[in-house]
Amino acid sequence: MRGKVQLDWTTTSSGSLRLLHRSTHRQRRCIQPGPARLLNTTGPGISMGAWSTYRAVWTTPNYLNASTSWTDIADGGSNIDRGYNECGLAQNAWNISLTSPGTTSRTANITASGCSSDDDDDVIDFGPLDAPAIARTCTWYLSLPGDNPINNADIRFKSTTGLYFIGSVPSGCSGRYSIEGVATHEFGHAFGLNHVSESSYPTETMSSAATSCSLADASLGRSDYAGLYDHY
Ligand SMILES: [Zn+2]
Repeated sequence: MRGKVQLDWTTTSSGSLRLLHRSTHRQRRCIQPGPARLLNTTGPGISMGAWSTYRAVWTTPNYLNASTSWTDIADGGSNIDRGYNECGLAQNAWNISLTSPGTTSRTANITASGCSSDDDDDVIDFGPLDAPAIARTCTWYLSLPGDNPINNADIRFKSTTGLYFIGSVPSGCSGRYSIEGVATHEFGHAFGLNHVSESSYPTETMSSAATSCSLADASLGRSDYAGLYDHY
């Protein structure tokens, strides 16, 4: 028996830009313990299972440089892999080893409105997504006694022109999102993390809405870190 979950990362419902003072932001996300939620909160737990390699389909939107956007996406995976954080918490404190063997002709099993069937390959690509989602992760896991190992995870970034930026926040930024920050969030789903409340924990990377023109999500907050630490 397989379970399937669908997670969208949406913009704030108002679409407005939220400004966070860096020092306050950093302090909050590092001090508050916050809840760490797993995808199947009613189940016995979730583990990495077979999911640890991923392939990219290289249909990068024209406005993004293929090579550097891929580097940023891979850095998002690395943030989860090694636990990069600004809180002084130890890196490489858990057993996640994420690797990419390269590209594939397959596409993510993700539709504009949801998830399609698992094909036993882990694929990251760009494609259409219905608003308000800007990225989506579909995670498929097995239901076994005492464990729900993740079998596969696919990630899709919305292909709309101008939605993402690579590297640091561009000057005059408006309504654009760090692809590394979004990738970090989506890789968090791929390893079984659920959202935490946007209203209660807006500074955690696994909160349910993204903040535009910010690099805050290109690292882990304390509850993001705790969720991975507890389960890997
Ligand atoms: Zn999400």
